[in-house]
Amino acid sequence: MSGFYVCSDCGGRNAQPGACSACGEGPVLDGRRPEVRDELWKSQELMIRKKERRLLPLVILGVSVPCLGAVAMYNQTLFLGLVFSPLGSLMTAGSLAVISFAVWRAVCKAFPVKRTFDWLSELR
Ligand SMILES: [Zn+2]
Repeated sequence: MSGFYVCSDCGGRNAQPGACSACGEGPVLDGRRPEVRDELWKSQELMIRKKERRLLPLVILGVSVPCLGAVAMYNQTLFLGLVFSPLGSLMTAGSLAVISFAVWRAVCKAFPVKRTFDWLSELR
């Protein structure tokens, strides 16, 4: 598709102003205007960050449960020390947080959220 009218709902590209040809919502915005592009870009980045943030608790759970489970299975004394002693639990929480964060960033990189307004950069 060509044209420079952008739909803020689906990211569709339209040749004419009015309703979006892809989803029927409207009116479509003039993608040649820099303030329109900035606004759409900002809302897209916010949407991506929101989706990524929703993934974080799952990753923390997916990292912590198997790690603690493995330690509990192989060495219960170590497990109790890691979870219930003040210094141990602090260290455990810290290292699990670091590992979770790294895994989360890797997952976000491996499965990026689709950017609906990518074609707007062609208009610059
Ligand atoms: Zn649309």
